[in-house]
Amino acid sequence: MVSAPEALERLREGNLRFASNSRGSDAFLSRTQRAALATGQQPFAIILGCSDSRVPAEIVFDQGLGDLFVIRVAGNIVAPSQVGSVEFAAARYDTRLVVVLGHSQCGAIVATLEELQRPTENQSRNLRAIVDRVRPSVEGLLATNLKHDGAALVRQGVRANIRASVDHLRHGSQVLEQLIQDDGLRVVGAEYSLETGVVEFLDEAALPSSG
Ligand SMILES: [Zn+2]
Repeated sequence: MVSAPEALERLREGNLRFASNSRGSDAFLSRTQRAALATGQQPFAIILGCSDSRVPAEIVFDQGLGDLFVIRVAGNIVAPSQVGSVEFAAARYDTRLVVVLGHSQCGAIVATLEELQRPTENQSRNLRAIVDRVRPSVEGLLATNLKHDGAALVRQGVRANIRASVDHLRHGSQVLEQLIQDDGLRVVGAEYSLETGVVEFLDEAALPSSG
C-alpha cells in the first residue's frame, strides 16, 4: 500500500515533470502495463477533479495507466455519487490519498457567480444542481469588496469551492471518516494553474508529511 505522504510526493514530482516539459517515459509504457493491469488495479491516489478539458489528472500529474482513480465532474463538486466513488476506491484498493483538484478560471465558478449576480429563469434543472453545490462557497464573497474585482472573485471562489469539497469528503461520509481516523487516509485540496501548469497544494501546513 502506498501511504498518503508517499502518494503526495509522487504527484508533486509528476507535476514538476509536466510543468517543466520533461514528462517521464513511464506514462507511455501503457501497452506493456495493460496486460498486467487487466487482472487488478492499485491506484495510489484518488483525484476528484473538474471536467475541464485542460485539466486531465493523468497528464498534469504525469501518471500512467492504473496509477490514478479519477472522478471528474464540472466544478469538482461533491454529490453523493462522488462520495460513493471515493469510498469505493479507498475501501477496495486501499488508496490512501484523495486530492480535490480545482483550477484557475473554472467555468463552473464563473457560471455560479454570474447566476448569483444575474439570475436566469430558465436554467436547466441539471445545470442548476451543479450551481447549487458551488453556491454556498462563493455566495459570501459577493458580500465583500471582492464583488468589484471580477478576477479576484473567481480566484477566491475557486479556492473556497475546493475547500468546501475537501470538507465535504472529510466530514460527509462515515466510511471516509473512519478511514481517516484509523487508516491514514488523507483528503487534500489542490489548485491547478492553467497558465503555468503547476499544481499548488493548499493548506501546506496540514499536508501529510513523510518526514
Ligand atoms: Zn473547472
